[in-house]
Formats: sequence, C-alpha cells, structure tokens
Amino acid sequence: MLELSTPVKYVKGIGPRIADILGTKGISTVDDLLHYLPFRYEDRLNPRGISELRAGEMATVIGEVRSSGLVLTRRMPIFKLTLEQGRAHLRCLWFHGAYLKDKFKLGQLVALYGKVEKNPSTRELQISNPQFEILADRTDSGNGAENRAAESLEIGRIVPIYESIGRLTPRWFRRAIRTAIENLNPDLLEPIPAIVRKRLGLVSPREAFWKVHWPDAGESLQDLQSARTPAHIRMIFDELFFVELGLELKRRQQKAQTGIAFRLDERVRAAIKKILPFHPTAAQKRVLKEIASDMEKPYPMRRLLQGDVGSGKTIVGFEAAIIAIENGCQVALMAPTEILAQQHYFSARRILESAGYRIVLLTGSLETDRKREVRRHIAQGNAQLVIGTHALLEEKVEFANLGLVIVDEQHRFGVLQRLKLMKKPSEGSEAALGGTAPGARPAQRSSSGSPQGAPPAPDVLGMTATPLPRTLALTLYGDLDLSVLDELPPGRTPIVTRRVADERSPEVWDFVRKQVAAGHQAYVVYPVIEENEETELKAAIKMYRELSGRVFADLKVGLLHGRLDPELKDQVMRMFQKGELQILVATTVIEVGVDVPNATVMVIEHAERFGLAQLHQLRGRIGRGAAKSYCVLMTGGKVSEEGEKRLNAMVKTNDGFQIAELDLELRGPGEFFGTRQAGMPSFRVANLIRDRELLEAAKREAAAVVAGPSTEISDVEVSRALVHMRTRWQNTYGLVEVG
Ligand code: ADP
Ligand code: MG
Repeated sequence: MLELSTPVKYVKGIGPRIADILGTKGISTVDDLLHYLPFRYEDRLNPRGISELRAGEMATVIGEVRSSGLVLTRRMPIFKLTLEQGRAHLRCLWFHGAYLKDKFKLGQLVALYGKVEKNPSTRELQISNPQFEILADRTDSGNGAENRAAESLEIGRIVPIYESIGRLTPRWFRRAIRTAIENLNPDLLEPIPAIVRKRLGLVSPREAFWKVHWPDAGESLQDLQSARTPAHIRMIFDELFFVELGLELKRRQQKAQTGIAFRLDERVRAAIKKILPFHPTAAQKRVLKEIASDMEKPYPMRRLLQGDVGSGKTIVGFEAAIIAIENGCQVALMAPTEILAQQHYFSARRILESAGYRIVLLTGSLETDRKREVRRHIAQGNAQLVIGTHALLEEKVEFANLGLVIVDEQHRFGVLQRLKLMKKPSEGSEAALGGTAPGARPAQRSSSGSPQGAPPAPDVLGMTATPLPRTLALTLYGDLDLSVLDELPPGRTPIVTRRVADERSPEVWDFVRKQVAAGHQAYVVYPVIEENEETELKAAIKMYRELSGRVFADLKVGLLHGRLDPELKDQVMRMFQKGELQILVATTVIEVGVDVPNATVMVIEHAERFGLAQLHQLRGRIGRGAAKSYCVLMTGGKVSEEGEKRLNAMVKTNDGFQIAELDLELRGPGEFFGTRQAGMPSFRVANLIRDRELLEAAKREAAAVVAGPSTEISDVEVSRALVHMRTRWQNTYGLVEVG
C-alpha cells in the first residue's frame, strides 16, 4: 500500500533509475507524482470524424496509418502521413520531419492532435506538425489482455496528456500515475475543515486525484483545459490554502510578539512637520497615518509600503523615522545598493540634519577605521538614523536601542534576508506556537529592553517600488500589512516614451544635446548582465569613450558602473547630482532609487534586452521634476515577439501597476522577479494569474482557521490543518520557520 509520502521509487514500475529522472523535476514522492497534472486532455471518447473537421479548430483524430514517408523539398524535408478512417482520409505533415522516417507502420492505430487547416494549393484539410501517439499495432503480438488493458487508458475516454520528462512519455505517465492511484491507501487524510469544504464545494482528495487524471466521460473538456473541474479546484485550493495558512500564522505570531508602543503626541507631530520640504500628497498623508497607527501598537509593525517609482516613499520613511527617534529609539534604513544608500544619506542629511538629528552611513566599502568608529557610535546610541546596505544585516551591527527598521526597495532583498530581518526570536511566543526558530538577530539590545528580559522586536517598514498586482502581493507578502501610495506628487508631466532604431542614433544625440542646452541632464543606459559581464562592460565603456570623446566632446560626460571603485562611484554620482556632469553613461546600477529631478532624458540602448519591470524602474529615474521628460528606447537588430510586447507596453503606459500586471502575464509568476530573489513558493498546480479568485478565497478561509476553533470549526480540525500545513511547508517549500 502506498502513502502520499512514500518515495516514488517504490511505485510498481518505477525503480531508482526512473526515480532519478523524476527527481530532476522535483517529483520525489507519490504525492508529487499525483500533483504532476496533465497539461491538456484529449477527447478520444468522441474523436472527430475526418469528414466533420472544420478549418481553424483544434482536433483529436484517431485513425489508421494508410501511408507515410519523407519528401525532400528544396527548402526542407517534410514527413507526410495519410490517416484513414473508413473511406475518409486526412493528410498530415511535419516540417523538418526527418526524425519520423521509421516511426510509423502501415495499419497502426494513431491519435493525432493539432490545428486543422486548409492546404493553400489543394484546398484540402490537413494538420501540420500534429502531436501524435501510436495507440496500437495490428501486428502487435504478445499478451492480449494486457494490451487491452493498456489500450483502455489510451482510447475510448478522455485521455490525459502529460509533459514528457526525458524519456518518460505521456503514455508512461498515464500508466505510472494510474498504478500509483490504484495502490494508494484509500483512507486519505482530509486536512481541510468541513465548513471550508462546504463553502467551496470541494471534493475529497481521493476523488480529486482520480478525476484530475482520469476524468469521467461526461466531464466538460473546456473545464478540464481551463483547470476548472471540481477535481482541479480541490487541488488548486488545497495548495493555496496551506500556503496562506502558513502566512496567516506567521502574521499572527508576529502580532503576538512584544513590540514597542511608540507615542505620537503633539511634540512628535510638530517635529515631523518641521522637516517636511513640501506639502505631502493625500496618499502620503494616508499612508503615514497607517504606519503611525501601527507604530503606536504594542506589537511590532510589519508593513509594506508599495508605490510606483517617484511616488515619494522616501519622505514617508523619514517621517516614520522621526516618530521612532523622537521616542528615543534608533532607526536603521537599508538600501539594496551603495549608490542608493549614499543618496539616502545625502537627502537625510539635507532634510533631517538641520533639525538636529544624528545620521551615519555604514556601507561595506568604508575604511576599516571609519567603520569601527561608526559602529561605536551606533552601539553607544549616538547615531539616531543609521543608513546602510545589507551589510547592516550581515555584519551583526550592534544597536543600543533599535526601534525601527526601514527596508527600501524591499523586493531586491531575498526572502531569506527578509526572514532574517523580520525574525526576532522572542522565545516566549515562539515556544507557545510550537516552533523553535534558530536565526540571526538583526540587532541586539545591550541596555534597555523589556523587563521580562526578551527585548521587544523593532518595527519593520518595507518599501517597494515594484507595484505588485494585488494577488501577487498577497502571496509574496501575505505576512505583511500593505499600504499603497497611489498618487504622484503634483506638477509632474507624464514622461514621453519613444522607440527608435539604432540607425537613428544621430537624431537621438541631437535631441539629448538640445535638452542639455536647455539646462537639463541626461542618462544613457547600457545593459550589462551578469552572464556576459566582461564583454558587455567593455561595450559600455567603449560607448562612453565614443560619447565623451566625440559625440559630446564639448559636454561633461560621466561613467558609472558596478565595477568602479566605491569612492569613484560616489564622486561621479555626486557630480551628476550637483549638475557638474551633464550626461551620465551608466549600467543598471542606477536602476533603483536614484533621484536627480533635473535629469529629463533617458536613452536606453538595447532596450529589447531589459525586462519590463526593469525598464519601468529605469524610466522612473526621470520625470521627477516639473519639466517634461523623455525616455528613448533604442533597439538594434531583431526583437523577439515578447520583446515587442515589452517595448510597446512601455510606450503605451507610465502606470507601474499596469506594467506589473502585464509583466506578470508575459513572464508568469514564477519568473516575475527572477527565481533567485523571488522567495516565492513555486506552486505545483496553482497559477496565480488564472487562480486569483481561489487565492483570495484561500486567504479568507485561512484567516478563519487561524482565528481558532469556533462554532463552525472544531479544535480538532484546526490542529489537523495546522499540523498538515507545517508538514507541507517543510516538505514542499523547505521552510522550517513557520509555526
Ligand atoms: P520613490 O517613491 O521612487 O522612492 P522618492 O521618494 O525618491 O520616490 O521621491 C521622488 C521625488 O519626488 C523626490 O525628488 C522627492 O523629493 C519628490 N517628492 C516626494 N513627495 C513630494 C511631494 N509631496 N511634493 C513634491 N515633491 C515630492
Ligand atoms: Mg525610492
């Protein structure tokens, strides 16, 4: 008897060798195997008669091979096959089909699937490049009963089609999965509380497994293809529900910790007012209110401030910092790059220092002596606002009295860093929830702290410039509260974005020159991606020479890239900020956060090579002042279809939320941020675009379960769900910290 947790190699017909192949796709248990869903289904119960086919439809056709052979044309080899159904014939072609030469035998029964089309010259219907499966061979010898049994999985029903893995074909998966389900312990645990199942109309796990792989004859093919059968819904909801349950629990745990209840009185309000260099927008006011109300609560704040590039997050962060500092606490502000940390340092000094606040910068590139001195200031509590990169995390900086951590461009930090930062194991609450979480503390308090011994956890405010579609934010940051800055500061003129082919660069440079003559500044950005760093960096440097030495020989042109000495980087950035450089040639080091309102032009070379979110971030460097700004996307050579979509989206809209939605659709949720930084659980059956509504439902129901037993949910059900959730998080997402 198989259990869901049984390693897949114990399924009959799968040995260690095949288990290894499955392992490459993350299939290691029976449970994993059963979650390997068909990517489509073929209706072989009612296959189409050849005579009733219509041009333009997708169809499954079953028939016998009447003739087949390779035809060599001038342009390519074409494999042709004629399928026979009684008197009717259908021609099928495979372009470049030499590999099929010896595949088919006369009289074989085959199933073909593809798009029916009209042959342009003969006007007859045909299918090009169909997917196919050889069902049976008239000449097949051997065990008749076994053949018939196998056949019954292939024809006369709705047949599941799986993605092949190596040499494991769709047909192989049908047999293996069938065997696994047949031998599965029939008493499967039902971890979802009855009331939740009832509200969503969920079928049992066992029924879901069966029917998702072996749909009933009457099942709607459309529902199957769009993953909307009851079996699909059960499996998808199941997956989302336990992810959301984990996130909800984490959120609860955080709220159960002891935090700092900051006081927000007239004095603090006046202090905030004093530093404001401009009138905050309505959105900034609302968001600050949300943050301040969190900070007043006795448990730690875990809030994410989401706002499009240029919406003015920095000042909100500074306001929050003042609340903490005026309450006698220290504040850490972390940025993902040194350049950005630098810039925050300068604006903090400009805005806050005159009010008497003590600000320090701590980055990896400081000289050792200076670092030691800064650390001492921090440890003694002299420094009130500490600005740095994630070196702040890694180097275990000791704070005297850390009250608030602000993480700028939070999406740039990996999820593990995020956990480290968020985690402040105050033993009491962890133990109460049954987990031991080893983990680094972001900071330690030497002197003050709560009387019980465990120091209160600091508040955490994340800020992100990548506006996430709501569903994704819910999942990725489901353990955080969300504030949205959905208004740009007044007086901004929308950025004009144009696409221009490489050959027209002289015109582009003329345009840049005119803008500079009008007193503005410009960025010229080159792609330098890690894989090709050496050569691309060289290309960027060469372009810099070309621009500074020839095209703009009379102007002041600077160069900024990641490999520069930190001090030099600093100097270049500062010169550009002060207007001493008119043109800045840069790589994507300027992608996030950089704020020079006088820069009104951004020329992006090889724009087709950047991701959509990245292009939007880059463009966010301009349009920060009142003057009209221009973004020029230059493309050289051939642009892929997806590249076209990205560039068109950029030309069409400036709205980060729209861009994020589109990006999600183009790339799919898994790649939305690039897996390395995503920290996104990769789903086995759910798809965040398709399954938005189920995700919302899962979140709602998870909250109800975490709230504890009620008239609707028994305590047995609650604990069963929680136990299941922990196992799931450990086995599937490798996250041990939860619960
Ligand atoms: P981001 O949200 O991308 O981090 P910043 O905080 O860098 O944006 O702000 C973008 C620019 O807008 C900065 O130059 C900032 O000084 C300015 N700014 C922010 N809020 C306002 C406001 N309420 N009125 C006028 N200018 C503002
Ligand atoms: Mg910013």
